[in-house]
Amino acid sequence: MTKPVIDPPSKSRSYNMSQIRGKDTKPEEIVRKFLFSKGFRYRKNVAALPGKPDIVLSKYHTVIFVNGCFWHRHEGCKYFVWPKHNQEFWKEKIESNVTRDHRNHDALHQAGWNVIDIWECELKTNNRKETLEALMVELREDAEYDKASG
Ligand code: ZN
Repeated sequence: MTKPVIDPPSKSRSYNMSQIRGKDTKPEEIVRKFLFSKGFRYRKNVAALPGKPDIVLSKYHTVIFVNGCFWHRHEGCKYFVWPKHNQEFWKEKIESNVTRDHRNHDALHQAGWNVIDIWECELKTNNRKETLEALMVELREDAEYDKASG
């Protein structure tokens, strides 16, 4: 039995457009601050790489994208809902984002990068800890593998 999660009022404000657009939005900062606190060093918004990854950990051959669930069409996610108005416009816009994401991922893989996607919904207060811990485990495993394989 899990207890219902009741967020304090300050955290339960409604999801709105201001939270999901642009760079240096809060979700990316959450991941960056966490990594920094754990001793990981990274570059951010690296324009030289496909898709301009939000976080680049060169030492770990890993790039991280922190994706807004709406803009990048997180399948099956409650935060992805097609807007009721201007559907043609949104469909074209979002589909082109998704196509571009796939293309960038492929290009990064081919260049030898490990690509990690973190969705905005995975950084909500109720599951943020698990998401960040899983990320750290994945990065450490990659580092161990690199060490073992010379
Ligand atoms: Zn989502």
